[in-house]
Amino acid sequence: MTQARPRFGCIEAGGTKFVLGIAEAHGAVLATTRIPTTNPADTIAAVIEWFKANGPVDAIGIASFGPIDPDPASPRWGFITKTTKPDWSGTDFAGRVGRAFDVPVGFDTDVNGAALAESRWGAAQGDDVAVYFTVGTGIGGGAIINGAPIHGAQHPEMGHILPRRHPDDLDFPGVCPFHGDCFEGLVSGPAIKARWGASLSELPADHPAHKIVAWYLGQLAMSVQAVLSPRRIIFGGGVMATPGLLEAMRSEALRLAKDYVTIIIEPPALGDQAGLLGGLALAQAAFTTGQKPWV
Ligand code: ZN
Repeated sequence: MTQARPRFGCIEAGGTKFVLGIAEAHGAVLATTRIPTTNPADTIAAVIEWFKANGPVDAIGIASFGPIDPDPASPRWGFITKTTKPDWSGTDFAGRVGRAFDVPVGFDTDVNGAALAESRWGAAQGDDVAVYFTVGTGIGGGAIINGAPIHGAQHPEMGHILPRRHPDDLDFPGVCPFHGDCFEGLVSGPAIKARWGASLSELPADHPAHKIVAWYLGQLAMSVQAVLSPRRIIFGGGVMATPGLLEAMRSEALRLAKDYVTIIIEPPALGDQAGLLGGLALAQAAFTTGQKPWV
Protein backbone atom coordinates (compact mmCIF):
# COMPACT_ATOMS: atom_id res chain seq x y z
CA MET A 1 0.00 0.00 0.00
CA THR A 2 1.43 3.39 -0.94
CA GLN A 3 0.62 6.36 1.29
CA ALA A 4 0.87 10.04 0.44
CA ARG A 5 4.36 10.17 1.91
CA PRO A 6 6.41 7.02 1.31
CA ARG A 7 7.77 5.17 4.31
CA PHE A 8 11.10 3.42 3.94
CA GLY A 9 12.40 0.39 5.79
CA CYS A 10 16.13 0.72 6.54
CA ILE A 11 18.45 -2.12 7.52
CA GLU A 12 22.07 -1.82 8.63
CA ALA A 13 23.17 -5.45 8.69
CA GLY A 14 26.37 -5.84 10.70
CA GLY A 15 28.35 -8.86 11.79
CA THR A 16 27.36 -8.51 15.45
CA LYS A 17 24.10 -6.56 15.29
CA PHE A 18 21.40 -5.39 12.92
CA VAL A 19 19.96 -1.89 13.21
CA LEU A 20 16.46 -1.54 11.75
CA GLY A 21 14.54 1.66 11.13
CA ILE A 22 11.54 3.16 9.45
CA ALA A 23 11.97 6.64 8.01
CA GLU A 24 10.15 9.05 5.74
CA ALA A 25 13.32 10.99 4.99
CA HIS A 26 16.69 11.87 6.50
CA GLY A 27 15.79 13.55 9.80
CA ALA A 28 12.35 11.91 9.86
CA VAL A 29 13.11 8.55 11.45
CA LEU A 30 9.90 7.09 12.89
CA ALA A 31 11.17 4.00 14.71
CA THR A 32 14.39 2.07 15.24
CA THR A 33 15.51 -1.09 16.98
CA ARG A 34 18.57 -3.32 17.28
CA ILE A 35 18.71 -7.08 17.10
CA PRO A 36 21.73 -9.34 17.58
CA THR A 37 23.16 -11.10 14.51
CA THR A 38 22.79 -14.82 15.14
CA ASN A 39 22.16 -17.50 12.51
CA PRO A 40 20.58 -16.42 9.19
CA ALA A 41 17.17 -18.06 9.73
CA ASP A 42 16.53 -16.51 13.16
CA THR A 43 18.01 -13.10 12.27
CA ILE A 44 16.06 -12.69 9.03
CA ALA A 45 12.87 -13.92 10.74
CA ALA A 46 13.35 -11.25 13.45
CA VAL A 47 13.84 -8.57 10.76
CA ILE A 48 10.62 -9.56 8.98
CA GLU A 49 8.70 -9.71 12.25
CA TRP A 50 9.78 -6.20 13.29
CA PHE A 51 8.86 -4.63 9.95
CA LYS A 52 5.49 -6.44 9.99
CA ALA A 53 4.82 -4.97 13.46
CA ASN A 54 6.00 -1.44 12.54
CA GLY A 55 5.00 -1.16 8.89
CA PRO A 56 3.74 -0.76 6.31
CA VAL A 57 6.73 0.28 4.21
CA ASP A 58 6.90 1.23 0.52
CA ALA A 59 10.49 0.12 -0.10
CA ILE A 60 13.33 -1.43 1.89
CA GLY A 61 17.06 -0.73 1.74
CA ILE A 62 19.68 -3.12 3.10
CA ALA A 63 23.26 -2.01 3.76
CA SER A 64 24.92 -5.32 4.58
CA PHE A 65 28.17 -6.85 5.72
CA GLY A 66 29.66 -8.80 2.87
CA PRO A 67 30.69 -10.02 0.54
CA ILE A 68 27.36 -9.90 -1.26
CA ASP A 69 25.88 -10.13 -4.74
CA PRO A 70 24.36 -6.68 -5.47
CA ASP A 71 23.73 -7.26 -9.21
CA PRO A 72 19.94 -7.16 -9.91
CA ALA A 73 20.53 -9.18 -13.11
CA SER A 74 22.22 -12.04 -11.24
CA PRO A 75 20.26 -15.13 -10.08
CA ARG A 76 22.08 -14.77 -6.79
CA TRP A 77 21.16 -11.10 -6.28
CA GLY A 78 20.55 -10.46 -2.61
CA PHE A 79 22.80 -13.28 -1.37
CA ILE A 80 25.60 -13.07 1.15
CA THR A 81 28.33 -14.85 -0.81
CA LYS A 82 31.60 -16.31 0.47
CA THR A 83 31.87 -14.86 3.97
CA THR A 84 34.00 -16.06 6.86
CA LYS A 85 31.02 -15.44 9.15
CA PRO A 86 29.76 -18.88 10.26
CA ASP A 87 26.53 -20.10 8.58
CA TRP A 88 26.01 -16.99 6.42
CA SER A 89 27.82 -18.06 3.23
CA GLY A 90 25.29 -18.57 0.44
CA THR A 91 22.38 -17.01 2.39
CA ASP A 92 19.52 -15.54 0.37
CA PHE A 93 19.02 -12.40 2.43
CA ALA A 94 17.47 -9.53 0.45
CA GLY A 95 15.27 -11.82 -1.64
CA ARG A 96 13.77 -13.36 1.48
CA VAL A 97 12.98 -9.89 2.87
CA GLY A 98 11.61 -8.73 -0.49
CA ARG A 99 9.30 -11.73 -0.92
CA ALA A 100 7.92 -11.18 2.61
CA PHE A 101 6.73 -7.66 1.77
CA ASP A 102 6.55 -7.49 -2.03
CA VAL A 103 8.00 -3.95 -2.13
CA PRO A 104 11.13 -2.75 -4.00
CA VAL A 105 14.38 -3.64 -2.21
CA GLY A 106 17.80 -2.02 -2.54
CA PHE A 107 20.77 -4.15 -1.49
CA ASP A 108 24.39 -3.08 -1.21
CA THR A 109 27.44 -3.30 1.03
CA ASP A 110 27.40 -1.46 4.35
CA VAL A 111 30.21 0.77 3.12
CA ASN A 112 28.63 1.54 -0.26
CA GLY A 113 25.46 2.40 1.69
CA ALA A 114 27.35 4.65 4.09
CA ALA A 115 29.19 6.28 1.17
CA LEU A 116 25.84 6.95 -0.51
CA ALA A 117 24.37 8.44 2.70
CA GLU A 118 27.43 10.65 3.23
CA SER A 119 27.21 11.84 -0.37
CA ARG A 120 23.48 12.66 0.01
CA TRP A 121 23.40 14.19 3.47
CA GLY A 122 26.87 14.16 5.03
CA ALA A 123 30.52 15.03 4.52
CA ALA A 124 30.62 14.27 0.77
CA GLN A 125 27.60 16.28 -0.41
CA GLY A 126 28.13 17.51 -3.95
CA ASP A 127 31.21 15.33 -4.53
CA ASP A 128 31.12 13.52 -7.89
CA VAL A 129 33.59 10.93 -6.56
CA ALA A 130 33.76 9.99 -2.87
CA VAL A 131 35.05 7.06 -0.83
CA TYR A 132 33.94 5.83 2.59
CA PHE A 133 36.05 3.49 4.74
CA THR A 134 35.19 1.69 7.92
CA VAL A 135 38.07 0.47 10.05
CA GLY A 136 36.73 -1.85 12.73
CA THR A 137 36.07 -5.60 12.90
CA GLY A 138 37.22 -5.58 9.27
CA ILE A 139 38.22 -2.89 6.81
CA GLY A 140 35.80 -2.06 4.01
CA GLY A 141 35.66 0.73 1.47
CA GLY A 142 32.70 1.93 -0.58
CA ALA A 143 32.84 4.35 -3.48
CA ILE A 144 30.35 6.66 -5.14
CA ILE A 145 30.85 7.86 -8.68
CA ASN A 146 28.37 10.40 -10.07
CA GLY A 147 25.81 9.57 -7.40
CA ALA A 148 25.92 5.78 -7.70
CA PRO A 149 27.86 3.12 -5.77
CA ILE A 150 30.51 1.15 -7.70
CA HIS A 151 29.67 -2.50 -8.38
CA GLY A 152 31.22 -3.93 -11.54
CA ALA A 153 32.16 -7.58 -11.20
CA GLN A 154 31.08 -7.63 -7.55
CA HIS A 155 31.85 -4.62 -5.37
CA PRO A 156 35.07 -3.00 -4.19
CA GLU A 157 37.08 -4.86 -1.52
CA MET A 158 39.43 -2.04 -0.63
CA GLY A 159 40.39 -3.51 2.75
CA HIS A 160 42.11 -6.33 0.88
CA ILE A 161 44.62 -4.15 -0.98
CA LEU A 162 48.14 -5.44 -0.32
CA PRO A 163 50.31 -2.85 1.46
CA ARG A 164 54.00 -2.13 1.66
CA ARG A 165 55.08 -3.35 5.10
CA HIS A 166 56.18 -0.96 7.84
CA PRO A 167 59.92 -1.50 8.55
CA ASP A 168 59.22 -2.15 12.27
CA ASP A 169 56.36 -4.55 11.48
CA LEU A 170 57.82 -7.20 9.23
CA ASP A 171 57.16 -10.32 11.32
CA PHE A 172 53.42 -10.27 12.02
CA PRO A 173 51.79 -12.53 9.39
CA GLY A 174 48.38 -10.75 9.46
CA VAL A 175 44.96 -12.17 10.26
CA CYS A 176 43.14 -12.12 6.91
CA PRO A 177 42.16 -15.76 6.18
CA PHE A 178 42.50 -15.09 2.44
CA HIS A 179 45.61 -12.90 2.14
CA GLY A 180 47.33 -12.71 5.53
CA ASP A 181 48.87 -9.25 5.43
CA CYS A 182 46.41 -7.18 3.39
CA PHE A 183 45.34 -3.92 5.09
CA GLU A 184 42.46 -5.70 6.83
CA GLY A 185 44.86 -8.41 7.95
CA LEU A 186 47.24 -5.82 9.43
CA VAL A 187 45.20 -2.95 10.92
CA SER A 188 41.60 -4.08 11.48
CA GLY A 189 40.53 -4.25 15.13
CA PRO A 190 41.22 -8.02 15.40
CA ALA A 191 44.65 -7.59 13.75
CA ILE A 192 45.62 -4.89 16.26
CA LYS A 193 44.47 -7.11 19.14
CA ALA A 194 46.29 -10.16 17.78
CA ARG A 195 49.54 -8.19 17.39
CA TRP A 196 49.59 -6.03 20.52
CA GLY A 197 47.11 -7.71 22.88
CA ALA A 198 44.71 -4.77 23.20
CA SER A 199 42.62 -2.43 21.11
CA LEU A 200 44.37 0.70 19.84
CA SER A 201 42.49 3.01 22.21
CA GLU A 202 43.52 0.79 25.17
CA LEU A 203 47.25 1.06 24.34
CA PRO A 204 49.20 3.97 25.91
CA ALA A 205 49.60 7.08 23.74
CA ASP A 206 53.36 6.50 23.36
CA HIS A 207 52.94 2.86 22.21
CA PRO A 208 54.49 2.29 18.73
CA ALA A 209 51.20 0.74 17.53
CA HIS A 210 49.70 4.21 17.09
CA LYS A 211 52.37 5.28 14.60
CA ILE A 212 52.35 1.97 12.75
CA VAL A 213 48.54 1.91 12.33
CA ALA A 214 48.52 5.54 11.16
CA TRP A 215 51.33 4.72 8.71
CA TYR A 216 49.31 1.88 7.15
CA LEU A 217 46.04 3.83 7.00
CA GLY A 218 47.82 6.77 5.37
CA GLN A 219 49.13 4.34 2.78
CA LEU A 220 45.61 2.94 2.25
CA ALA A 221 44.27 6.46 1.64
CA MET A 222 47.11 7.21 -0.78
CA SER A 223 46.46 3.96 -2.70
CA VAL A 224 42.76 4.67 -3.15
CA GLN A 225 43.38 8.31 -4.02
CA ALA A 226 45.75 7.18 -6.77
CA VAL A 227 43.13 4.82 -8.28
CA LEU A 228 39.79 6.63 -7.95
CA SER A 229 40.66 10.31 -7.44
CA PRO A 230 37.94 10.93 -4.84
CA ARG A 231 37.19 14.52 -3.79
CA ARG A 232 37.14 13.21 -0.24
CA ILE A 233 37.89 10.03 1.68
CA ILE A 234 35.80 9.51 4.81
CA PHE A 235 37.17 7.26 7.56
CA GLY A 236 34.79 5.85 10.20
CA GLY A 237 34.52 2.71 12.33
CA GLY A 238 35.56 1.62 15.82
CA VAL A 239 39.34 1.82 15.35
CA MET A 240 39.01 5.39 14.01
CA ALA A 241 37.50 6.45 17.35
CA THR A 242 41.05 6.28 18.81
CA PRO A 243 41.98 9.86 19.77
CA GLY A 244 44.50 11.43 17.38
CA LEU A 245 44.40 8.60 14.80
CA LEU A 246 42.61 10.52 12.06
CA GLU A 247 45.06 13.43 12.32
CA ALA A 248 48.06 11.08 12.38
CA MET A 249 46.93 9.06 9.34
CA ARG A 250 46.10 12.27 7.49
CA SER A 251 49.67 13.53 7.90
CA GLU A 252 51.02 10.12 6.82
CA ALA A 253 48.86 10.24 3.69
CA LEU A 254 50.07 13.74 2.86
CA ARG A 255 53.68 12.71 3.45
CA LEU A 256 53.25 9.83 0.98
CA ALA A 257 51.42 12.00 -1.56
CA LYS A 258 54.44 14.33 -1.83
CA ASP A 259 52.27 17.14 -3.20
CA TYR A 260 51.73 15.01 -6.31
CA VAL A 261 48.11 14.15 -5.50
CA THR A 262 45.64 15.94 -3.23
CA ILE A 263 44.13 13.87 -0.42
CA ILE A 264 41.30 15.14 1.77
CA ILE A 265 40.46 12.87 4.71
CA GLU A 266 37.48 13.52 6.98
CA PRO A 267 35.43 11.76 9.67
CA PRO A 268 31.83 10.81 8.79
CA ALA A 269 29.43 13.75 9.21
CA LEU A 270 26.59 11.31 9.92
CA GLY A 271 28.55 9.61 12.72
CA ASP A 272 27.19 6.21 13.73
CA GLN A 273 24.00 6.90 11.75
CA ALA A 274 25.83 6.49 8.43
CA GLY A 275 24.99 2.77 8.22
CA LEU A 276 21.26 3.05 8.88
CA LEU A 277 21.00 6.10 6.63
CA GLY A 278 22.78 4.02 4.00
CA GLY A 279 19.79 1.69 4.21
CA LEU A 280 17.49 4.69 3.77
CA ALA A 281 19.38 5.94 0.71
CA LEU A 282 19.23 2.44 -0.82
CA ALA A 283 15.49 2.18 -0.07
CA GLN A 284 14.82 5.53 -1.72
CA ALA A 285 16.79 4.49 -4.80
CA ALA A 286 14.88 1.18 -5.00
CA PHE A 287 11.57 3.02 -4.59
CA THR A 288 12.47 5.18 -7.60
CA THR A 289 13.45 2.24 -9.82
CA GLY A 290 10.83 -0.16 -8.40
CA GLN A 291 13.33 -2.99 -8.51
CA LYS A 292 12.14 -6.43 -7.38
CA PRO A 293 14.96 -8.65 -8.68
CA TRP A 294 13.49 -11.83 -7.11
CA VAL A 295 10.39 -11.67 -9.32
ZN1 ZN B 1 42.52 -9.84 2.83
